[in-house]
Amino acid sequence: MSADSFFASGHPAHAAGGTLVEVASVAAGCDLCKLAAGRTQVVFGVGRADADLLFVGEGPGEQEDLKGEPFVGRAGQLLTQLIEGIGLTRDDVYIANVVKCRPPGNRDPQPDEIEACAPWLDRQLELIRPRVIVTLGNFATKLLLDTKEGITKLRGREFAFSRAGIDATLLPTFHPSAVLRSGGKALAEARADFVRVKRALAGATRGTTGSG
Ligand code: URA
Repeated sequence: MSADSFFASGHPAHAAGGTLVEVASVAAGCDLCKLAAGRTQVVFGVGRADADLLFVGEGPGEQEDLKGEPFVGRAGQLLTQLIEGIGLTRDDVYIANVVKCRPPGNRDPQPDEIEACAPWLDRQLELIRPRVIVTLGNFATKLLLDTKEGITKLRGREFAFSRAGIDATLLPTFHPSAVLRSGGKALAEARADFVRVKRALAGATRGTTGSG
């Protein structure tokens, strides 16, 4: 997806008010793509409105759709453990997804759905202004780095992220669901990536760009 469509104007995300709560309340009624028809509720995001560290997953699953909160199922438990492993809690960070509504049967989000939803993530980034962004898996990584390269090649590295009016350090890592499926080596690599996240948080200051 091009940066132009990522920042598409005319989307309700850009017209919505100036706080995360106001934007979330407009997003709650979003019907810009076909995922709206099958959802229980919009899963906008959770966490600190001024978090230094922001995670971006793929999209809500069944439990997230029912609870209205990202990453509350098995993959969420692993994400919570990884966050706690670097001395933080879920309350210290912000957790969002590429698409805010559950794809039916947990299928992959489709390009038109990602495009329709991306401005909500854009607004979350603009308002939260994280210093460090962690993309969980292929969908978030491809969207925010505007790349076709897969997660296996990109994880373990740091990228400068300068969009949505912010400068941050972006670190891609595996999606926790993929770690659960793959086991040992992937878990060790995810843990190593989280150590990199901790270092990036210690090194970054608000408004500066990390090394690419
Ligand atoms: N997987 C995701 O990508 N996001 C969630 O919120 C839950 C599972």
